[in-house]
Amino acid sequence: MKPIRVIIVGGGFAAVQFAKNLRKKLGPPECEILLFSRENHMVFHPLLADVAGASINADAAAAPLRQMLPGIDCRTERVQRIDLASSEIEFEDGNGAPARMHYDHVVVACGAESNLGIIPGMIEHAFPFKVMRDAIDLRQHIVSQMEQAEASLDPERRRWHLSFIVVGAGFSGVEVAGEINELVRSSTRFYRNFRKHDVVVTLVHSQDQILPEVAPKLREFAGMKMRKAGITILLNTRAVAATHDGIEINNGQMLPGATVVCTIGTAVSPLVQRLDVPKERGRIRTAPDMRIEGHTNAWAIGDCALIVNAFDNKPSAPTGQFAERQGRQAALNLVRILKGEPTQPFRFKALGQLCSIGGYQAVAEMLGVHISGFLAWLMWRGVYLFKLPTWSRRIKVALDWSWDVLFPRDLSFLNIDSAQQLTHGYYRAGDFIHRRGEPARVFSVIEEGEVEILQAAEENQEAKVIDILGKGDFFGEGALLGNRPHETSIRARSVVRLVQVGSALFSQIAGTFAPFRELLAKTVTRRSGDLWRRLPGTKSLLEVEPLAALLDPLPPELLRKDATLAEAIKALNESPTGQLLILDEKHHLWGTLDRQDLYYIVARIALSPAEARGNSALRKLGELLPGDPVYVALGDSTLLASTLMLDHGITWLPVVQSKDDASPVGYLRAEKISNLLIQKLGHLEADHVRAAS
Ligand SMILES: Cc1cc2nc3c(=O)[nH]c(=O)nc-3n(C[C@H](O)[C@H](O)[C@H](O)COP(=O)(O)OP(=O)(O)OC[C@H]3O[C@@H](n4cnc5c(N)ncnc54)[C@H](O)[C@@H]3O)c2cc1C
Repeated sequence: MKPIRVIIVGGGFAAVQFAKNLRKKLGPPECEILLFSRENHMVFHPLLADVAGASINADAAAAPLRQMLPGIDCRTERVQRIDLASSEIEFEDGNGAPARMHYDHVVVACGAESNLGIIPGMIEHAFPFKVMRDAIDLRQHIVSQMEQAEASLDPERRRWHLSFIVVGAGFSGVEVAGEINELVRSSTRFYRNFRKHDVVVTLVHSQDQILPEVAPKLREFAGMKMRKAGITILLNTRAVAATHDGIEINNGQMLPGATVVCTIGTAVSPLVQRLDVPKERGRIRTAPDMRIEGHTNAWAIGDCALIVNAFDNKPSAPTGQFAERQGRQAALNLVRILKGEPTQPFRFKALGQLCSIGGYQAVAEMLGVHISGFLAWLMWRGVYLFKLPTWSRRIKVALDWSWDVLFPRDLSFLNIDSAQQLTHGYYRAGDFIHRRGEPARVFSVIEEGEVEILQAAEENQEAKVIDILGKGDFFGEGALLGNRPHETSIRARSVVRLVQVGSALFSQIAGTFAPFRELLAKTVTRRSGDLWRRLPGTKSLLEVEPLAALLDPLPPELLRKDATLAEAIKALNESPTGQLLILDEKHHLWGTLDRQDLYYIVARIALSPAEARGNSALRKLGELLPGDPVYVALGDSTLLASTLMLDHGITWLPVVQSKDDASPVGYLRAEKISNLLIQKLGHLEADHVRAAS
């Protein structure tokens, strides 16, 4: 008889236990078991903090699936979709090509993802703490911060390198803060330039107690020991933004730190998102026997599933302990089904909680007994050693831990060349992205928001805004190409997100990609301020001419973002100027539209596939236009407005109330500015400006 085919999606606690237990009960002639996992190893999450803190090596906390699971076909391939109707999975084969495979039973055990997107700037500047890569990267970063602190001559900068912030004081936050503290403080004796008291480790938690899952006495003990070890614990404090400099907390204060670890925020796996089954808070709802509600041959276990525990009728906690038990009991239920026996509901009494807090201390709640201190730490190590999936890992971890007791932690690291990297940056309004005189390290492209270029002013005078750059614009090229420090400062005018290309990578692209090189050359010439230097009279006039005096009133027709294309065409035909402003729900400027924009919209619709076009006339402007127009505020100078028009090759420019209030108040026309120049300066310079635009 042909064996039944069981496909398991995932390679974590739940999937591994399911595969092991099913193979124990059914041999290859009866059952073919395939396990698809993104990684070829299982990560033992409870030891990730030890990897980050360099007390064990990374490979000790990651067990290769195919060595752990003999008799199971382990595939390191990502499953893209599960077609429950046809009982097939869709996955990417080894060459990245799409492939399909039929199953008799499928088990969804793909866990959850970390989600740094819940706090602005965390994606760009914080370390997540979920997979092995995160722990390895964090360890590298921590050691590199110590090296940079050693090399730094500026005490403030040194302290910044030695300041570590962990957001979230659940199990993983507490464990990682404890490990960072232990690694850095125990290593200070190998450095000459800083001491233990220079190290700052801060744990930021939104609730009034750390470790909300454990008993109050244990929490208090953990907090007391961590504070004694030098960790600052900020309770009832929320991180509201992360930047290159550190994090902003809810009272508006900025906590400086070169290292931010974010242990809060989980997201549903994209595979589960695509699955059309009953869910609760993103987790797949199952029947008591762990089959997906409404399905007879599809199962969901582990963190991605919402399984009610028959022991207390509560949803199972998203922990490794529950995931393992679910894996085991679901495999036994599948065997029961194949034998024609009734299945059993998931039932499990949790054994307890263990949390290491650094410095050979831990807290433990086992079978109702509370233990804390060194004994709890020994227990923590013993339990996790025993729970490791293979004997080879147990021996490896035991050796690493013994090494850690006898010898100092390993401070070697691979120096990553940041000049070759592509990174992302997040800045709040008012943050400096770089200051005049700082060395040039990156070429930045604006993904979102606006920045202003500031030119140094005379002593005691405020720097002048000489240009504004928006989405799609770039900066940093002049200093990189000229191999010199920045000549101007750049400040965020609103929230800004940047894509940043390291200097070496930038040189490679600029050296090989001809159109990019030409664009850079043109930009450098334009930004060098040549035009205004050649036209000193014009520059002085535009600097003092009030922008309000040149303002044209708002056009009679102001379109809303949700206006249709048909309405926009009608309004444009009726507009005396051929230019329209588009507003968002708050009546703030959202976009602009002229005949050329309309031409692009129509061309794009015409080129899109017929099925995507729909009824084009009824499509909303909000989905057809990119938004993010170029504009100035009433308080800006006419020189700045003229520079913007020249930079962007436009002949009209909307004007809004202020930097903080984007309500439109009118618009400027290049023609009006030229007329002013002709009147006041004569033809010569005005003709130059007209020619340039
Ligand atoms: C830092 C940290 C410390 C923790 N400490 C503890 C602890 O001390 N005690 C405890 O009980 N719990 C702990 N947990 C929680 C525990 O790790 C999780 O509850 C557990 O891992 C859930 O198991 P799982 O099998 O559902 O998912 P995971 O173990 O996350 O495994 C998911 C698997 O699915 C794979 N996958 C995802 N999408 C796809 C796809 N599309 N195709 C193929 N494969 C895919 C992934 O590669 C991964 O192998 C900790 C978690 C973290 C992050």
